[in-house]
Parts: sequence; structure tokens; C-alpha cells
Amino acid sequence: MIQRILIALAATLAAGAALAEYPDKPITIVVPFAAGGPTDKVARDFAEVLRKGLNNQTVLIENVGGAGGTLGAAKVAKAAPDGYTLLLFHIGMATSPALYRNLPYKTLDDFEYLGLINEVPMTLIGRPTLPANNFAELVKWIEANKGKVNLANAGLGAASHLCGLLFQQSLKVDMTTIPYKGTGPAMTDLLGGQVDVMCDQATNTAGLIESGKVKAFGVTSLKPQTAPALAKLPTLDSVGLKGFNVTVWNALYAPKGTPKAAVDKLNAALRAALKDPEFIKRQEALGAVMVTDGRLASDGHKKFLEAEIAKWGPAIKAAGQYAD
Ligand code: ASP
Repeated sequence: MIQRILIALAATLAAGAALAEYPDKPITIVVPFAAGGPTDKVARDFAEVLRKGLNNQTVLIENVGGAGGTLGAAKVAKAAPDGYTLLLFHIGMATSPALYRNLPYKTLDDFEYLGLINEVPMTLIGRPTLPANNFAELVKWIEANKGKVNLANAGLGAASHLCGLLFQQSLKVDMTTIPYKGTGPAMTDLLGGQVDVMCDQATNTAGLIESGKVKAFGVTSLKPQTAPALAKLPTLDSVGLKGFNVTVWNALYAPKGTPKAAVDKLNAALRAALKDPEFIKRQEALGAVMVTDGRLASDGHKKFLEAEIAKWGPAIKAAGQYAD
């Protein structure tokens, strides 16, 4: 009997010691889009600062693109809940439940909610050779080319899909959508002139807009942007698309059942990363704003996710968009 108690005690102490040392090997953040896009870029920048609060462990990025981010999210939902596999996903976590009849995970049950990271507007951009230089000219060009305009996105459920959907609905035109595994590869085709227009996060477009490599027609936030690369752009709301308002938010998740000690350490590291002056400066220059409110806490994150699901679901369903 005493021997059994001693063995159990030793096992508990060993588990405690292992967690006290967490993390003692590299952590992987799954980005559910291809490399070179905004989610990937934010994740790589964030990973470098996050590691400072995690015993300086290496934080690796694994790109699992496809199906608007839901393949990567499914991979993390099914991963070992040991604190070594995380997910960085954006607003798509909230739009995909309305878009997919059979999501391979339960958005509100299968994860630990580690906190939001930042918020960033999207921009409406076009290929460099597009013969339109402002929003009014773009609308005229689209009307003159009905049936021929290509709109790139990162798949059903991606932020670019949501923004493109609202854009087509507001203009009452249908465009041919070309899905990619992320707006990284979509951008390559847009720069090469193979696709015409796209919505993408400012964190991916600010530099290209500033250097004149893409045509830019507006920002998707209600408020005008102040970052130098974006300050000259009108809001889509102010140029005729009344009420157009899409803000992309990024957040961090772990598989459900990840030990509390790891969850707490990850949350503390996330909070510390969002106070890193250099990270803030780099992100703000690209139009992103750090989250500083109750959405940094697990319950605040989950409540916000529920509210976003309730907000976008009806609009998506009304547009009759589904995938199996
Ligand atoms: N910007 C993409 C989206 O439309 C995702 C990405 O490639 O980061 O959601």
C-alpha cells in the first residue's frame, strides 16, 4: 500500500516537474495558409517574440493551407494536447462554421483559447496592369467587363473570401473566384497579372501599395487608416459601399485538454509578446493594432469568437455559400 502511494507520488512529482520545465523542446505553430501571406507573416514575426516568454525555445511555423484554413485548424484540433502544437488562425475561425456543412472539428469545443493577438484591416487591391486608378474607375471597369473579372481568394472561409463576397454583394456583380491555399501564392499571380482583384490584409499589402507594385482602391475598415502606406486610401464605406466593415483578427489556440500549466505559460508569453515595442512598431507600420483588452484572456477570447460566429453566420448564409 505504502509502496503504491509512493509510486503515485513520484509520478505526480515527475509530471509536475515536466510541466514546470515546459517548454523543453521546440513548439510548432500551425498556420492554416500557405507561406508568404499575411497570416504566415504575422505568425513568423509573432513567433520570434513569443519564444522570449517560453524559455527561449524555438517556435517553428508549419504551413498547412487548404479549404480556407480549416485543414490546418483540424490538424491542431486532433494534435496531442501537450502544448507543443498550436494554431494561429484569423477571423476564418468564426466564418467557417457557417460556410462548411461538415467542419472536421468543433470550433467552440475542440480548443484551448489562448488569446487574441492583433486586428488588421484588409485592402482591396488589383493587378498592376489594371486600367483603373481609383475605386470609381474600378467599378466602371468591372461593369464594362462583366463575366470576365477574376477575384482571387484563399479559399472558402478565408478572410479574402468573406471580403470578396461582401464586395460582390455590394456591387451586385458576380466575379469568377479563383481559390488559392493562401494569399501568398494568390499575390504572386496578381502581381503577374493572371488574376484581377483581391482583398488581402494590410499586413501583406502595405509594402506593395507603398512601392506602387499593386493598384489599391480602399481599406475595409470604417475608420481611415493612419499607417503611412494606407493613409491615402479611402475607406470602402466612404466611396459608396455604405457600412462595409471587415476587420481581420488573429488569435492563438491549443488543442483541447492541453495542461493548464502550459496554457497559462503560453498566455503569459502572448501577453508579454504584445508589449514588445519592436513587434508593436513593425506591426503598426503595416496597419495592425495589438489587442489589449479582455480578449487576451481565455474566456474573453472564446466569448468574442462566439459573438463573431453570430455576427457573420447570417450574412454568409444569406449569400447562399456552402461547402461540404
Ligand atoms: N489573407 C488570407 C485570407 O484571405 C490568408 C493568408 O494567406 O494568410 O484569409
